[in-house]
Amino acid sequence: MTRIPAKMPGLVKKFYPNYYWDFSKAINANSEKTMYLTFDDGPVPEATEFVLELLNKYNAKATFFCIGNNVEKNPQIFEKVISNGHAIGNHTQHHLEGWKTNTDEYIENTLLSEAHINGHNHHKLFRPPYGRIKRSQAKKLSTLGYKIIMWDVVAKDWMATISEETCLNNIVNNSVNGSIIVMHDSMKAFKNLKYALPRVLDHFSNEGFQFKKIEF
Ligand SMILES: [Zn+2]
Repeated sequence: MTRIPAKMPGLVKKFYPNYYWDFSKAINANSEKTMYLTFDDGPVPEATEFVLELLNKYNAKATFFCIGNNVEKNPQIFEKVISNGHAIGNHTQHHLEGWKTNTDEYIENTLLSEAHINGHNHHKLFRPPYGRIKRSQAKKLSTLGYKIIMWDVVAKDWMATISEETCLNNIVNNSVNGSIIVMHDSMKAFKNLKYALPRVLDHFSNEGFQFKKIEF
């Protein structure tokens, strides 16, 4: 996992042109300053609530790629994410790793998760856990109407071995107009998230950026 680059290489983006990596082109054409914060692996008590409170403070909207199993366990927090006006995406029911899972099982697990987030997910956003998805899985999800949302910048907030400051720098030094930024509303990431998120919001708000949810 340490080999995951904080900034997604352009070559990788070009190799998978059907996935969404950032919205830089669309944004630059409109000359607005926008970033897309995304939070994976929730909803859970404490971490998700912390994120929601901070986003409200900065009038920021974000996209939450939820694990179906966590939605099932924490329905009130999930409802709060929705009532606060954020976008919801599917992150499978049990956080499956695509490369190690056969396609039928992968799709089935995603649809199981869909049943829990159903009705709130008009745009059918999907993010593969670990960023690992087979072409056959992506193809099948596309035919079901999903858009595969990857990222441009990853905070690595879940890594216990990196400092809070490094986590913050991963975002601040690599994000540009239109970036899709990955963070985690999980307890594993909470130490780094608690430090980095308020500073990210502060830093880019001061530079005139808005934070928007992903919608098509
Ligand atoms: Zn995940």
